Amino acid sequence: MTDASSDSLMPRLKRLREVLLMGPGPSCVPPLVYEALARPTIGHLDPAFIDIMDAIKDQLRELMGTGNRLTIPVSGTGSAGMETCFVNLIEPGDTVLVLVNGVFGQRMTDVAKRLRAEVDTLEFQWGTPVQVEAVREQLQKKEYRIVAVVHAETSTGVCNPVAEIGEVIRPTGALYLVDTVTSLGGMPVQMDAWGADALYSGTQKCLSCPPGLAPISFSERAVQKLQARATKVPNWYLDLTLIVNYWEGAQRAYHHTAPVNMLYALHQALGLILAEGLENVYARHGTAHRRLVEGLEEFDLEMLVEPGARLPMLNAVLVPDGVDETAVRRKLLAESGIEIGAGLGPLAGRIWRVGLMGHTARPENVDRFLDALSDALNDPACRRIG
Ligand SMILES: *Cc1c(COP(=O)(O)O)cnc(C)c1O
Repeated sequence: MTDASSDSLMPRLKRLREVLLMGPGPSCVPPLVYEALARPTIGHLDPAFIDIMDAIKDQLRELMGTGNRLTIPVSGTGSAGMETCFVNLIEPGDTVLVLVNGVFGQRMTDVAKRLRAEVDTLEFQWGTPVQVEAVREQLQKKEYRIVAVVHAETSTGVCNPVAEIGEVIRPTGALYLVDTVTSLGGMPVQMDAWGADALYSGTQKCLSCPPGLAPISFSERAVQKLQARATKVPNWYLDLTLIVNYWEGAQRAYHHTAPVNMLYALHQALGLILAEGLENVYARHGTAHRRLVEGLEEFDLEMLVEPGARLPMLNAVLVPDGVDETAVRRKLLAESGIEIGAGLGPLAGRIWRVGLMGHTARPENVDRFLDALSDALNDPACRRIG
């Protein structure tokens, strides 16, 4: 007989060590969430499982600041949440305005264009927030069915003024679509107060659950737009008119097999956040962020974003002249077991992205990172000549 233990069949998995995840996601996963993942798999229509599904919907409503009935986790990562919002709300020819100041605003534009919407973008310099006045002016020039923005732009570390943007959209009657992939669970998300109609997130950022689910919520107005469609939702897997028959009502109908164990994990992850208390969780992110910025300033490092627009959970740090940014990241991972992120697009090579998301956002992690970074900055192998 062969030895069927995972150690002998999966030697690569055995070699994996725990990494301190301080990049743009995934973040560190708490032990109780790993335990939840390992619970026995049951049927996706088992009454005990339906009970967990219903509990998750309530937990998400609390975290998102909404009373919306249609609030569920979609099977897939954050981008599946983005796709779900656009694919259910857009009909060909619909006018859509996307506010873009980073990678994820660009991704929204791409998704909306593929659905044959008439897409306009308002672009803002990467590293700076969306300017509400510019949005107001654009909305006076043209009528839009949907306006979309990213709350926490993970590619730059910028927080966009979503409440103020919501105020200028409201009188126009457009649906308001907000990406809260990186903000949810790390800073206040107030879907109803913002007047947002469609909102999506992901599990591996501040929810500190492995990647694989995308919580979404639709307002009554969004549900009405969905129900009034002249054409079918052009994607079977993400069609909410079908999915709700599994997530709502006394009699649940099979659509696709729910990722049962991932939903156990999400239930546990949300439970941990709500038990700690939302205010305490947000304060912990703020404290870790300030500790990090103070530490970086002691090394004379500068942040990309102005203080008023900085995210607590994603810190864009300018790479100083003469430093090899790739070598620093490689050394942090190899020698200290710490992962941080690189810049994307126009910021590639110019910034590091240091994540303080969810379970990762703790002072001891900040200190461990600062010590390791100090070593790297003093290492001649991390210098760039010329
Ligand atoms: C990570 C992220 C996404 C995409 O999520 P995936 O889980 O990578 O599919 C979308 N928007 C923002 C703001 C993100 O940070």
